Amino acid sequence: MRLVFLGPPGAGKGTQAEILVQRYSIPQLSTGDMLRAAVAAKSPLGLKAKQIMDRGDLVSDSVVDAIVSQRLDEADCANGFILDGYPRTLAQAEALQAMLAEKGIALDAVLELQADRDALVARIVNRAAQSGTARADDNEEVLRNRLDVYNELTAPLAAYYRSKGLLRSVDGMARIDTVSKAVADVLGAVK
Ligand code: AMP
Repeated sequence: MRLVFLGPPGAGKGTQAEILVQRYSIPQLSTGDMLRAAVAAKSPLGLKAKQIMDRGDLVSDSVVDAIVSQRLDEADCANGFILDGYPRTLAQAEALQAMLAEKGIALDAVLELQADRDALVARIVNRAAQSGTARADDNEEVLRNRLDVYNELTAPLAAYYRSKGLLRSVDGMARIDTVSKAVADVLGAVK
């Protein structure tokens, strides 16, 4: 199962991806996690990415495209993968199509978790307050910027994937078990 997870910050992509990781025994490839690891390691990439991420802006397409392409070649992706947080721009979506074609594979579905903007702000501010280990990009101002960036650059991907017949949309604001049931239902129809 080769999947892309689409949805604004806080829509529950990470939580739902974890459930699918167990169900299909495929890895979750989160570009946010990969970039945070690079920041923590203080690698040249991490040093460049940190300020961009702290503002809630997007790291350049070429950087993330290269990280994803390399990651897809690792052995654990042989039976599939869940891309979480990538692609985030139309240019990334096109780069992904090209790299998959080159590797001789294709996406099975693109799962969109739909979510209401105001509810998302409340959800993420809450997550930051409860965890005590707030991410630098979880404060409200940065969060609003991340949502703006999502609406402007990433939301158009839904239409892009709909036109390819790949899009499956689910209401992400319901309870976790309700969302995961809806996800299972739409994916059950895929494979
Ligand atoms: P996330 O954990 O997916 O919310 O990502 C956290 C941050 O990492 C984002 O706000 C961006 O700054 C950066 N990032 C993650 N994925 C991408 C991507 N596909 N393209 C550009 N920047 C990304």
